[in-house]
Formats: sequence, C-alpha cells, structure tokens
Amino acid sequence: MSVTLSYDDNQRLLLDGIACDCGLTHQLPDRPIHVGRGLLARAGELISRYLPGTQAVLVADDKTWPLAGREVCEQLRQRGFKVDVCLIRRDGEMLPDETACGEVLLTMTDTTDFLISVGSGSLTDTTRIAAMRTGKPFAAVATAPSMDGYTSVVAPLLLRGSKIHRQAHSPDLILCDLDILRQAPMEMIAGGVGDVLGKYIAITDWRIGQEINDEAFCPLCAEMVIAAVDRVTEHIDAIISRSEAGIRLLTEALLLAGLTIMIIGHTRAVASVEHNIVHLWDMMQLARGRRQPPHGLAVGLSTLMIWPVYTLFAADNQLSFVDPDAVLAQRISHEQRAWQIMAAYGEEAGRMIIAENPDDFLTPDEQRRRIDRARERWPRLRDIIADLPPYETIINVQKKLQAPRLPQDLQIEPDQVSVSLRMGKDYRSRYSLFKLLDDCGLLETFLATLPWAKPTVG
Ligand SMILES: [Zn+2]
Ligand SMILES: [Zn+2]
Repeated sequence: MSVTLSYDDNQRLLLDGIACDCGLTHQLPDRPIHVGRGLLARAGELISRYLPGTQAVLVADDKTWPLAGREVCEQLRQRGFKVDVCLIRRDGEMLPDETACGEVLLTMTDTTDFLISVGSGSLTDTTRIAAMRTGKPFAAVATAPSMDGYTSVVAPLLLRGSKIHRQAHSPDLILCDLDILRQAPMEMIAGGVGDVLGKYIAITDWRIGQEINDEAFCPLCAEMVIAAVDRVTEHIDAIISRSEAGIRLLTEALLLAGLTIMIIGHTRAVASVEHNIVHLWDMMQLARGRRQPPHGLAVGLSTLMIWPVYTLFAADNQLSFVDPDAVLAQRISHEQRAWQIMAAYGEEAGRMIIAENPDDFLTPDEQRRRIDRARERWPRLRDIIADLPPYETIINVQKKLQAPRLPQDLQIEPDQVSVSLRMGKDYRSRYSLFKLLDDCGLLETFLATLPWAKPTVG
C-alpha cells in the first residue's frame, strides 16, 4: 500500500495506488498538475487545452511579470486569446489584501472567461479568491517552491490589516516549470523546505490523536507525505545547489502535501501546532503594525523550536508520575480559558475560536479519560515519536539553508514566543502533543526546558 508518483509524456503528474481502507473517504485528485523543464514555453498550449474560453485576466507583480507573466501573455495572444493584465505594482512585498483583490476584480470584465496567476503564495491566493467570488476557473503558473498552498482550497488573506481565511478552490491547472522555480531566491526555497519540515510534526500529532482520541488516520496520506519530506531532508544539498533533481523533489513534496488535502478533504496531514503557532505570530505581528513573517520560514522556525518537546517527551515516561486527581484539581475555569484565548488572539478572533471549537473545554471526565489513555499508551506514543528523524537532521537542514533558527531571526519578540507556545494549541481542536501535555498538567514542565519559552509576565 503506497502511492507512486510518475509523469506522462506531457510532464503531467500522475498518482497511482491510492487504495486505502482507513475508513476515511478518499478522492483521487484529478486537476492537471505539470512539473518539469521547459513548461513555460508550453504555457499557452496547456492553458488553452484545460481552461475554457478565450478571454483571460493574467495576474502578476513586478517580479513575476518579467520572470514568466509576459511570456505566458504573449503566447496566449499569439493563439488569439484576449488577455487583460493585472500587474500589481508595490514598492515592497505584494500582499494578498483587499487592494490587490480589488485590482484583480476591476481588471475582470463581463466577458472574462478565466484567470491566470503568475506567482507564489500571495498572487495565487489573491487570484484564487477572485476566481471563487466570480465563479471563474483559474490556472496557476508557479514561480517559487516556497509553500504547499498551490493546491489549497483555502486562501489566507488580509482584510483591514487582519488575517482572514476564505474558502476558495484549487487551480484548474498548475504549471511548475523547474527552470523558473530554480531561479527563486534562496529565502523562498528555504521557506518551501520549512513548510515541508512542519509535516513531521503534523503527522506525529495526527498519530497521537489516533492513539488518544481514536481519531481517523490515513496511513496512506501520512506515508506519502513523510516519504516526500524524507527525500527533501536527504537531498538538501541538491536543493541548495538548485539542481533540477533537487528543486523537483522539493516541488513534489509541496505538491504531494497539498494533494493530501484534496484526497481526504482536510489539512490534518499538513498542519498542526507548528502552523497554529505561526498563525498566532502572524496575528500578533499584524496587530503591532508589522509584516507577517514569511510563511515557510516561520513554519521551519516553529518546527525547530518545538521539536525538543517531542524528543524529551519520548525520552522518559513523565506520564507515570502524573496524578490525575491532582491535575483535575488544578483545572482552570471555562471563563479563565476564554480570557486566555482572547488575550492571545484578540477579542474578535478569540471569540470565534471558542465558538468554533465548543468541545475544546474538556469535561473533567473527558480530561481524565485522556490522561488515563495517555498513561496507558505511553510506549506507543514513544514509538510514534521515535519515527521522527533526529533533531540534528532538522537543525542541519536549517543551518545549511541559513534559515531562521531563533525567534529573533524573524523578529518574533519574547512575549510573542511565550504566548504562542502556550496558546497556539488552542487555535483549533485538532489534537497535538501540546494538548496532551496540557491535559496531563505537564505543559509548563516541558516548556521550562526550552530556552526561549519563558512564561508570560502578568
Ligand atoms: Zn504551511
Ligand atoms: Zn486512507
């Protein structure tokens, strides 16, 4: 039982072997994704094959227009397409905000048939939401292997300076020309690797959820993601040297991770507490009038920061010293928990989190059940964590990439680190080792071992 990845003569990615009896419903992803060299030269042909109509809006920014946008535009015009260009010009980084979304919508006309994004995360998400709102299909021409969101069905956006997520759909065609992706700045490549490294934590937490809460778990998706992430860490030198093979492995890992969302319909295999922590950093930085840290770099950093908690948990059975009665006697009230969440996430987002995850405030019986189960299953939990690669492997990857390894490398302040390590787990009800530790009254004990996790003052 394993998924094999191959390509047809057109460099279209094919997945085989999606046969799994885990109990979840699996959908075979059927959207065309092409990965390979020389694809930009065939963009016009492929877009006209898969997208309906002859009138397009092409969305690019100052960086991606000369890189690939102009070429795609010219090819389509030569084929008789009418292409309106939405060139988003910014002094600094382009953001997926209401201004950018408005520019795309105002470039569209009554006769626009489809959209094309030429870029990475921000440009794809801006185009994705416009496509969703107008019911038009869209093609994504990737320009950097910087995050796993090309295949995503959710668009992280900015509205009046705050982070929002909106349901959208995945592109009707994705083109990943390796000659273009290889030219991406090293920071973006390091971001792609960082986003991929987070999958180790996501899969581990998922397996812990299966042990403690009998959560439905898909071994096929987990194996597919882990095998792809392992290939990235094993071939990190090839990625850094931007060889075709290296950039292909990274691109495939990002795409495969994203494809699990299509296969099982949720993001369990690709995001857990490491992403929640980054989400909290994003919100806290925006609230201070600053930019969000680059996504993949931030995920790589949070993964590195929380990793020692996993290895320490597996090193020694601290659960055997837990007295469930004593833990339950220390429970905080519903009001205290609500206050903590609102203090961390802000009142509006905090209220939404509490409303969306009503079962997250455990009854005493449920908390006791989880403590008992964790104590009983500790050997299994230890074995799950033992499947992680050594911490040194992750540090070495980050060192070689010159990626952020300390919170200050991304201007994350000590108070933001402290709050995010304690409250990131509460962003959603998704189970994690951090929730387990909190349920068992051990979270502070473990955080005390992290040099950067000083408790919040006040
Ligand atoms: Zn991510
Ligand atoms: Zn499955």
